[in-house]
Amino acid sequence: MREQRDLPWRRTRDPYAIWISEIMLQQTRVAAVIPYYERFLARFPDYQALAAAKEDDVLAMWAGLGYYSRARNLQKAARQLVELGGFPREHAAIRELAGIGSYTAGAVASIAFGLPHPAIDGNVRRVVIRLTGDADASIEVEAGALLDRRNAGQHNQALMELGAMICVPRDPHCGECPVEKLCGARQQGLENELPLVKAKAKLVRRERTLAVVRRGGKILLVPSPRVAGFWDLPEPFPGIHMGAGLGTFRHAITTSQYVFEVREASLAGRIPKGARWWDEASLGQIPFGTASKKALRCLETL
Ligand code: SF4
Repeated sequence: MREQRDLPWRRTRDPYAIWISEIMLQQTRVAAVIPYYERFLARFPDYQALAAAKEDDVLAMWAGLGYYSRARNLQKAARQLVELGGFPREHAAIRELAGIGSYTAGAVASIAFGLPHPAIDGNVRRVVIRLTGDADASIEVEAGALLDRRNAGQHNQALMELGAMICVPRDPHCGECPVEKLCGARQQGLENELPLVKAKAKLVRRERTLAVVRRGGKILLVPSPRVAGFWDLPEPFPGIHMGAGLGTFRHAITTSQYVFEVREASLAGRIPKGARWWDEASLGQIPFGTASKKALRCLETL
């Protein structure tokens, strides 16, 4: 598409850079990814640098993007690439790398190497279903049939862009669509009906408390129960007295909407197993989960 957005990963055919962007873009919006992508590539400019890095450094560069298994798999795959001596140039072999599914393998194979493979993510799935006008169409078959095999990379990026900018989930901009005349959904007036959507899970509201326990310029942190290598502020535990409130914030995790209250606390017993005192001055270097980062912002605004 002539009107495609000028995104940093569109200016390269480096399979490493394309792969990093595609993994970051899973579950995360484009605008949020751009600064992470630029910092990550500046810090780890190639798979060799990523393979040689300490896991804590990789996780710290990822902090805030969530779904940390993606970062761990990136490093695992970078180490596989070191063993292989470079990026494989076959879809099936790219698919073998840790954390790479069919979509990402298709994107890397087609954009970096021009291999004739579709790359089917949620946006492309929607566009293909609408183009066929058939809710039950086989996406793989239809996407393969549509593919411009000589320009697979450009074709895949154009479909991604069409899905992101024009053939959007609600009220697609069919009047601006370059394939309007070929579109089955449009011809049948079904562009808003297709693809059929499943009912969304309801967000459940929950309340939680985080404790700020300080002692002589140090703050008590506990290992994150969800992300190995990360640290969190503790929740109330036997042996602390909860004190004044410092602030509240909201944080959604999958189907739960949490309201966190951050409170001062003082220690009256033992610290929990695995907990450690950290210098408050070094907080900027510690990998934190997103909820704890938001909690620490409450402290900054006091
Ligand atoms: S005509 Fe409308 S529904 Fe069809 S592909 Fe274009 S934007 Fe999507």
